[in-house]
Amino acid sequence: MKKRVGRRIEAMALSLVMVFASVALMPALKARAATTKTIDYAIMGEDAGTATVVTDFDYTMGEQPNAFMQCMGKVEQVAENDPQYQSNQTILQHMDSGYDEVWCYAIDIDPVFVTGRTEEGVVDATVTFPLLSGYTKQDGYDARIIYVYDFITDGGATGYPVSIKPLAITDTTITFKMPFGLQSMWVAGSLGIKNHFWVEYKKHTHTLPNEWKSDDTNHWKVCSVCGDIDAKAAHTYDEGKITTPATYSAAGVKTYTCTVCGHQKTETIPMLVAVAGAEVVTTDTKASYEVAKVNADGTVEVAYTGNNTNAKKVKVPDTVVLADGTTAAVTEVADGAFKNDKKVTTVTLGKNVETIGKNAFSGNTNLKKVTLGKNVTTIGKNAFSGDKKLQTITIKSSKVKKIGKNAFKNVENTTIKVPAKKVKKYTQLVQKSGASSSIKVTKK
Ligand SMILES: [Zn+2]
Ligand SMILES: [Zn+2]
Repeated sequence: MKKRVGRRIEAMALSLVMVFASVALMPALKARAATTKTIDYAIMGEDAGTATVVTDFDYTMGEQPNAFMQCMGKVEQVAENDPQYQSNQTILQHMDSGYDEVWCYAIDIDPVFVTGRTEEGVVDATVTFPLLSGYTKQDGYDARIIYVYDFITDGGATGYPVSIKPLAITDTTITFKMPFGLQSMWVAGSLGIKNHFWVEYKKHTHTLPNEWKSDDTNHWKVCSVCGDIDAKAAHTYDEGKITTPATYSAAGVKTYTCTVCGHQKTETIPMLVAVAGAEVVTTDTKASYEVAKVNADGTVEVAYTGNNTNAKKVKVPDTVVLADGTTAAVTEVADGAFKNDKKVTTVTLGKNVETIGKNAFSGNTNLKKVTLGKNVTTIGKNAFSGDKKLQTITIKSSKVKKIGKNAFKNVENTTIKVPAKKVKKYTQLVQKSGASSSIKVTKK
């Protein structure tokens, strides 16, 4: 018993496989039963009114193998003597690859009077009919007429195997321009046609170009066949890149780029605000700086606030490059910049230093040699206080106006070399600060 049941199921399964296989391999062929519809048509570009679709039947694949005959329906003149077109297989052979369904339309156009025909040739007609049920406007763009067959009322039959793209598509209709008959067949000027044609359909898949379209919010692609918008989505920007750094005199720009379409948006980076005394980041990693002064034009001058190394010989630079890429002059050695640095032996100040702050070098017990640039105007209180080993201070500047109290406290036997014409003046300033008389001011 069990065995027999098993065998039956097996046989059924096999037949199901065969049915599926044949369905999958063979495109559907259907006769269109558009019974109450009318077709708008024009012949040779002249609006000729409407024609009634005269077919009225349902056709299911397999019931009646001769689909061509079925499609004829009530059209009386069948091309019996033209066996080439009497097989649905012939029609299917004409289908373009990738198409799923073929539908047949048969129409009957009353004789119309057409003037001015003298040359022989194919009569063009424009035919508009409803979009096939189950297909969208977009699908219409891929629809094709693959075959036209016409009958002239006065006799004769001619077939035109053609592949025609739609002329126009709306949400509900599809229009083809197609050959309807041979002009030579109605020399009298009156034309009546019983005509049928085959339309193949497939579901439309957008053909999308590489290029994206975009606005400030979204990106999308446009189908090159149907013109529909596809793949529309909001931009997905990256983390942004500073394309123009903000400076102390101008705002900067940060640019974000969409990772999908490349669309860019920018954001303003506020202008940097420099406040005197605020720490600034520079490209000089050996020392620290702060804002000394903000000029009217937005440029910044900085003060050297500390040596970050254990170097014995230190040079305070003329200028430093700030984080925003601008260059700032180093115009000050800040109060206490080198205070209690026991390692430093030699210090050379850049040419832009104007002010040496209070206690700038106080407690530098190994400092032997200092060179001040040509723009120094002020030496602050206790600037070199306690620098017991200080041997030489060279002052290139002729602009020194002030040496603060106790600038050389506990400094002995030091030579201060100055410009020749300033020996007298600077000697007075040094003495006035309370320096030891063992300190000598001489010309360089
Ligand atoms: Zn498309
Ligand atoms: Zn985008």
